[in-house]
Amino acid sequence: MKEQGKIWMNGKLVPFKNAKVHVLTHALHYSTAVFEGIRCYSTPKGSMIFRLPEHVDRLFSSAKMYSMKMPYSKKQISGAIMKTVRNSTLKECYIRPIVYYSYGMLGLTPTSNKIDVAIACVEALQEYTQAGKIRGTRCRVSKWLRIDSRSQPMQAKAASNYANAALARVEALTEGYDESIMLNYYGKVAEGSAENIFLINDDKIFTPPLSAGILPGITRDSVIKIAKAERLSVTEKNFDVEDLYSADEVFMTGTASEIKPVTEIDNKSIGGGKPGRITLQLHKIFIDVVSGKDKRFFKWLTPV
Ligand code: PMP
Repeated sequence: MKEQGKIWMNGKLVPFKNAKVHVLTHALHYSTAVFEGIRCYSTPKGSMIFRLPEHVDRLFSSAKMYSMKMPYSKKQISGAIMKTVRNSTLKECYIRPIVYYSYGMLGLTPTSNKIDVAIACVEALQEYTQAGKIRGTRCRVSKWLRIDSRSQPMQAKAASNYANAALARVEALTEGYDESIMLNYYGKVAEGSAENIFLINDDKIFTPPLSAGILPGITRDSVIKIAKAERLSVTEKNFDVEDLYSADEVFMTGTASEIKPVTEIDNKSIGGGKPGRITLQLHKIFIDVVSGKDKRFFKWLTPV
């Protein structure tokens, strides 16, 4: 990550190096933070933010699930995101807004602590290894289960979900894989450590429903809408690891990873070990969409 530009903190743009928090910040001790990952793409009509209103809506709904009172309106947060991106002068970037309980009381109860908001934008997030990009992603089914939604609201993009995800990610990387696939408490496939997951059989697309305890991914939603516009069948349904092993194609979706083909799971090759035809078709359309080349979905882009 290049240490450059300015970070928006509670209404002010501050130099990168000065964007600091106190060591007694509540969120640092108790994970009381919600955040977003948003992307800005370069298009022939200038830089555009992909699905900005949906990301801002999800940030607010994540905060609501944790009873955090947002100190700014959606309009103010969208404006602050635009201001931060414009100030960065980056044509393409990854944007990270975060809302967190600041310092004050050190005990567990966060509610008397101030809620702070910061927005950073960085050049790119390396979620996709170069090797994975060339040969497709090699996954391992994690021994760590995705946290159950009866334990905490998994539809919130909350920092507290990510220690669990990081365990799974590190486990996969340590064992020589690119990414992990996490199951839920029912033994059904949930999602990757930072991506949603899809499988394709006989040209039909399947993905776990939100009730599997997954993040309502905005890329997931985009892929479902793109596939339907292409008259492909998409069904939300629970499935087992065995369904992944025997699938014709598997791919993952996320803001940082976009659409990444999975070509191996637990050392079993998927679809002959090569990215599948429909995965590549969806990937091509997705790239056209985010680069402003597909008129059908131009409405998903907000000019900076
Ligand atoms: N699941 C998890 C656990 C994630 O962290 C992410 C990345 N935000 C996703 C799915 C994909 O969501 P999105 O497409 O909105 O980036």
